[in-house]
Amino acid sequence: MSEQLYGGIEACGTKFVCTVAAGPDDIRAETRFATGAPTATLQQAIDFFRAQPPITALGIGAFGPADPDPRSLTFGFITTTPKPGWAGVDFAGVMQRALNVPVGFDTDVNVAALGEWRWGAAQGLESFVYLTVGTGIGGGGVINGQMMHGLIHPEMGHMRLPRREERFAAAGPLPPFAGICPFHGDCLEGLAAGPAIEARWGKKGGELPPDHPAWTLEAYYLGTALSNLICILSPQRIILGGGVMEQRHLFPLVRQEVQQALNGYVASPAILAQIDSYIVPPGLGNRAGMLGAIALAQQAAATRKGAHSTA
Ligand code: ADP
Ligand code: ZN
Repeated sequence: MSEQLYGGIEACGTKFVCTVAAGPDDIRAETRFATGAPTATLQQAIDFFRAQPPITALGIGAFGPADPDPRSLTFGFITTTPKPGWAGVDFAGVMQRALNVPVGFDTDVNVAALGEWRWGAAQGLESFVYLTVGTGIGGGGVINGQMMHGLIHPEMGHMRLPRREERFAAAGPLPPFAGICPFHGDCLEGLAAGPAIEARWGKKGGELPPDHPAWTLEAYYLGTALSNLICILSPQRIILGGGVMEQRHLFPLVRQEVQQALNGYVASPAILAQIDSYIVPPGLGNRAGMLGAIALAQQAAATRKGAHSTA
């Protein structure tokens, strides 16, 4: 049998990464470009794949909100995004018609979770959460051996938290901060995503020193959010990715906040004693999304039709 090649698109709000690979350790071609207007951007992706040897299937991890339900009439569409021009774009359909191969489609975070499940830090697990803390906060993963989909897809970044910021006011009260989510103000994303850190402190996260009060507050928000996810979903592991988590000193602070929030109640050794291997960075580093798209393409090839990520 001739060698199979797979295509992947990691489509974020700011950039597209397109890849052709035979497997996770065998990337044959890769290109990246800015996410511009939809027609031109999708054409750039099509031109890239047409210039490569033929692929068997394509996997797409898309910024959202998007429709990953293969039973839906708008499967593979970007749905209600505020990103100019992209609402209602038939992303998967355009790619499928241009390349004439099976197309798998899911949210960018679910596809990164799939990559971690297949080749990264979640291999062999029945239930886990992948949370990315970057320009936005998004969560996905697997519950009981199935990728989480449900009504549309989880929106973990928009959970609400008790703020309890008085805990951090020892050096004087924190300046008021309303949060920057356009829908909810001070949801998790509105308080703790990269742009929220920048809005609050006037500097990008990457420019704040490790002892800046921003980080204890950030760890409180993330740790509280994770304790909610643990109570609701009972994941066997939590993977934290995204640009903000490049601040590796956040990991021990977040773990501590999780233990404090749960207060011994979730009586698993994973949380009580082995939390260092329970809350972890992505095993695939910043390649989780790109490799997840290849994993999704392999699934789509196996089903010979459009697919969302499944067991
Ligand atoms: P995206 O979410 O757009 O895919 P990233 O995951 O890289 O991209 O997230 C970008 C956000 O993360 C920006 O708000 C940026 O300020 C923040 N960020 C990127 N690198 C770092 C870093 N090393 N430390 C703290 N924040 C960072
Ligand atoms: Zn929100």
